Amino acid sequence: MRVGSICSTSSFGAREALKGVIYTKPLKNGATQEGIISEALSELESVEFDKNDIAYMNAMGINPPFKNGKEAVDCLKANNIPIQYGKFSDKNVHACLAKGDKGKTTVLINHRYKNSTGKPEILATAEAIIHESGHAKDNDTQNSIQEELDNLSLNVLTHRAFEKKYPHVFDKSNSFFFREGVKLYPKLFYQFGAGKTALKERVADKYGHMQAGDERHPSSKLACDIKALDILS
Ligand SMILES: [Zn+2]
Repeated sequence: MRVGSICSTSSFGAREALKGVIYTKPLKNGATQEGIISEALSELESVEFDKNDIAYMNAMGINPPFKNGKEAVDCLKANNIPIQYGKFSDKNVHACLAKGDKGKTTVLINHRYKNSTGKPEILATAEAIIHESGHAKDNDTQNSIQEELDNLSLNVLTHRAFEKKYPHVFDKSNSFFFREGVKLYPKLFYQFGAGKTALKERVADKYGHMQAGDERHPSSKLACDIKALDILS
């Protein structure tokens, strides 16, 4: 594969790939892709997070980088960050924030989804975009378990807002995009019972090799617990 850019951060990628580097080849958007992206952005722009959901995240030691979807869209616009599809060296990555040859930052969505024009897929794309916008807001080279938790909370907050706006919209969606991302994290974040064990194990599996916190994302107890799981494994 010809390498066009390298992912600096990625969503839900395989652990092995995240330890190394994910190579990407951005593709040119056609009319279908422009359509999906513009509808996803317009959905995102109208997303309001539930105040109780934000309080729930804060109580877990998580700080969502945006107060609503519009802040994320504005961040992409202000930084002139385009959204394209791309081929990834790790097929299990849904999306990533890639740096091109000339240092140009781009949100890349896995090309597997480039013709997915259904409403659930468009909303899923919006969720992937807001996660990467969180990384883009930072614009630094540091990543950490805490940064991923903060950005994963954006996926979950946005997902819950979409479920409220479009009841049952995701009911029949069970492809990889949903099973291993869009529908998984809301379940894990809101799992009842002590300790959030499944969430910790999942995040440790995907991101446990990272440092617990970084300069802009000081580690919470949750991030430290996840890091400890990785050391033990
Ligand atoms: Zn991420």
